[in-house]
Amino acid sequence: MENWQKLCSMSAAEIKKMQDRKLRALLINQIYPYSPYYSRVFKEMGLDPYKIKGVQDLKHLPFTYKEDVAPTDEEPEKHKDFVVRPDEEITEKYGHLAKLSPYGGKAVVEEKIYDYKPVHIHFTTGRTAKSTPFVYSKRDLENIREGGYRLLDVFGLDEKDMFVNAFPYSPHLAFWQAFFAAENSGIATLNSGGGKVMGTQNLIEAVEELRATAMCFIPGYAYYFLREAARQKRDFSSVKTILFGGERVPPGLKDKIKSLLMEMGAAEILVLATYACTESRVAWGECPAETSYGYHIYPDMEVIEVVDPDTGEPVGEGEEGEIVYTPLDWRGTSVLRYRTGDIAKGGITYEPCPNCGRTVPRISANIQRKSEFKEFELTKIKGTLVNLNNFFPLMMSHPQVVEWQVEIRKRNNDPFELDEIYLYVAPEEGCNLEKLKADLRQKVIRDTEVAPSDIIFKPVPEILKQLGMETELKEKRIFDNRPTD
Ligand SMILES: [Zn+2]
Repeated sequence: MENWQKLCSMSAAEIKKMQDRKLRALLINQIYPYSPYYSRVFKEMGLDPYKIKGVQDLKHLPFTYKEDVAPTDEEPEKHKDFVVRPDEEITEKYGHLAKLSPYGGKAVVEEKIYDYKPVHIHFTTGRTAKSTPFVYSKRDLENIREGGYRLLDVFGLDEKDMFVNAFPYSPHLAFWQAFFAAENSGIATLNSGGGKVMGTQNLIEAVEELRATAMCFIPGYAYYFLREAARQKRDFSSVKTILFGGERVPPGLKDKIKSLLMEMGAAEILVLATYACTESRVAWGECPAETSYGYHIYPDMEVIEVVDPDTGEPVGEGEEGEIVYTPLDWRGTSVLRYRTGDIAKGGITYEPCPNCGRTVPRISANIQRKSEFKEFELTKIKGTLVNLNNFFPLMMSHPQVVEWQVEIRKRNNDPFELDEIYLYVAPEEGCNLEKLKADLRQKVIRDTEVAPSDIIFKPVPEILKQLGMETELKEKRIFDNRPTD
């Protein structure tokens, strides 16, 4: 990988040249000979890897979808075919590891092990496919560490900070990216595991005692955590930066977070988001500013294309489209032209950042994540596409909503009946419930194009329990209670 500071001042033309070179090297030296899936695909499609001269030729390669990688009952080991590995059969031509050793000796074998042997695993989450393991070799762990350093560099954190990693401990990118980021940046860190592991009360006390300056959270938990700390009138005056990962951050939630921190003595607070997917194996950070300038990506580690989600054709710079990921300098589980399903409203831009001056490309921060839920039957006629993601900005930002949950179920619990959507809301104390109900109903119809079957008010503790706020890895905001078929 390149030197980050150097990378941040390279011209767009130099970046492209570097990406072309790295892409050719990856395809010819790694993917074609060592990826069982892609070497099969290349042969089946009659694709010559030597003909891919650079990023502009990526369009000749097929897309990879979640379903291509995810294990199924019939093919439980499908994902292994995406792991870059010098397979004995394939490498026969070039000489097996053991045969290499008489020439290069132990060092060659060790280098191969460093490059290829999986040593770290993350899993994908989601309802549309089975969890898929994504593996890192030791060499790949250098990438996640370097990516972490860059992330915190973009955010402006340094060794003077005191960092609290409140992502839930799990084999997922968020927790580990934060861990490697802080470790590689030399920042003192409490890797707490979040409320689920350490308990919210202990975590509140730790933040106060350690005089934490920066924290990272899943957004829904951050709001709960800070509300609880504010209720206890804690001194959080040391806190300057809140980082979010795991899901989209609605602007209204940023305001709620800031006002809670200000209540606890903090000033000049930055609330910033990260963007990543399991497949990218590294996270990108939002440039710190009041208005959003987007996520700075690492052009020596990946190519990001933005394509029309229907036609798959690349769109122009700054135009809306689906984010497509291709690794550049990775081993382990490598997926080419991966369709993330996430739509970036402002696409990707190569102009130097007006905020920090870095020249690395930026993905627009306005990202609409793919809905993980199956179609709805709201009428007898046909399935309706409802984007449940639209509940998040609406409910998270609403000033009179403290907590909320959406439940989808079948009318009368009959699998052949229509679907119904129930909205549970813990309202702000003392607000006019009738007015709030009418307001929510109207906004839900506006933003999701469906009318909720009912809006039910409940006390905060009851909704927290339904959400599994401290018992689940990520709270269950949308609870699909329909029978699975
Ligand atoms: Zn910037």
